[in-house]
Amino acid sequence: MKLKILEKKNSIFNQFIAEIRDEGVQTDSMRFRRNIERIGEIFAYEISKELEYEKKNIVTPLGVSKVSVLKKQPVIAAILRAALPLHTGMLNYFDKAGNAFVSAYRKHRKDGSFIIKIEYLSSPSIENKILIITDPMLATGSSMVLSYEALMQRGKPSHIHIVTAIASTEGVEYVKKHLPENTTIWAGAVDGELTSRGYIVPGLGDAGDLAFGGKK
Ligand code: URA
Repeated sequence: MKLKILEKKNSIFNQFIAEIRDEGVQTDSMRFRRNIERIGEIFAYEISKELEYEKKNIVTPLGVSKVSVLKKQPVIAAILRAALPLHTGMLNYFDKAGNAFVSAYRKHRKDGSFIIKIEYLSSPSIENKILIITDPMLATGSSMVLSYEALMQRGKPSHIHIVTAIASTEGVEYVKKHLPENTTIWAGAVDGELTSRGYIVPGLGDAGDLAFGGKK
């Protein structure tokens, strides 16, 4: 299994990571969503370099140009609700992709522990397709693994890309343990700590709340 951490290379990508982490910038939820979307766009571009292409004759007003175009469209899955801006960013570039949605939410117990519940799945067939699963935060890794297992009801993908803005070391290890070898994890950054309530430290807080407001 491959792990690619984009913040390791200096690029404008790190400006967007800095802004989503920054509590001063986070007060502007539109900017938060748009930054996550921009992060999704950059991930899409990076992933696009690893896909298969075929030559196609494109007719211009003046002649014919042979251009390499994507051989197969991926399916992009979003783990609701926090992944919506990341999913939008990826879809801005992979605009012909198939789309899947899974709802995974944390049901907190009084003692602070929580279980993850999967309640909704909407997906086209992913048999032999390139599957990209998006979640801005890969904390414990349980939502990702449960979402992956739910998506497997729709077929066996040829390759899986996990896309996350900020991962924890623990989440990365959990995904490595439970997903097949033909998986690539794309993380913006990997942080070393998780709180007892499953929040990444330093992380950024609750990505779903920052994008869409609090919930009961
Ligand atoms: N989900 C979030 O939104 N933030 C975390 O730190 C962990 C999971």
